[in-house]
Amino acid sequence: PTGRKFFLGGNWKCNGTQDSIKKLVDDLNEVEFEEDVEIVVCPPFLYIHQVLETLTKRIDVAAQNCWTGKGGAITGEICADQLVDVGVKWVVLGHAERRHFMGETNSMVSRKAAGSNLTNGVVCDQLQALVSKVPDWIQVVLAYEPVWAVGTGKSCTPEQAQEVHFSMREWIRKNISEDVASYVRIIYGGSVSSSTCNGLARQPDIDGFFVGSAALNTKEFVAIANSVK
Ligand code: PEP
Repeated sequence: PTGRKFFLGGNWKCNGTQDSIKKLVDDLNEVEFEEDVEIVVCPPFLYIHQVLETLTKRIDVAAQNCWTGKGGAITGEICADQLVDVGVKWVVLGHAERRHFMGETNSMVSRKAAGSNLTNGVVCDQLQALVSKVPDWIQVVLAYEPVWAVGTGKSCTPEQAQEVHFSMREWIRKNISEDVASYVRIIYGGSVSSSTCNGLARQPDIDGFFVGSAALNTKEFVAIANSVK
């Protein structure tokens, strides 16, 4: 036991309609998840209200992105204060797909993470850019997601992933603090499924998962939640 609560994030990406999201929420509401797993789902912005209104409070809600700072004349963006205003406690930052399709850089991601104390979750593979910017590490969950494994059906072996998670924790110990290294949750993402989650979850430095396609299938999602150590 590490004292780090197992974390499961479900990234719905740009998927869903009101009807399909109703079905997903209804299915999730039926499940009795293990107590020792913290669960957060990330709907597209447009459906956050629907999900907040209908999803069991057992599961938290995250946005998939936010603007780098305060709101204002930034057409098409949503800022952290607005997320907090509607009751969203988490945000995914620095996802590889946003870097790839939207050209997000480390500098943008670190400004988002620094944006305010209201930013609670960070998914970022570039730690250095974050070090001096994160106001409070207790609010952060880090996801290691090898780009070749995201959305490809190819997953890291438990040993490969453990090696990277261990190095990340060591890096944090040296560059941030012993304390942060001991409590920060480092989760793995990249084609996690019911058939790969158990081996990964047994690794000492893997504190949970960030899942994409398997999050749209409640049976798969529950199996992954049940891999909690
Ligand atoms: C992701 O969205 O970060 C992800 C890991 O997706 P998938 O599980 O589909 O690879």
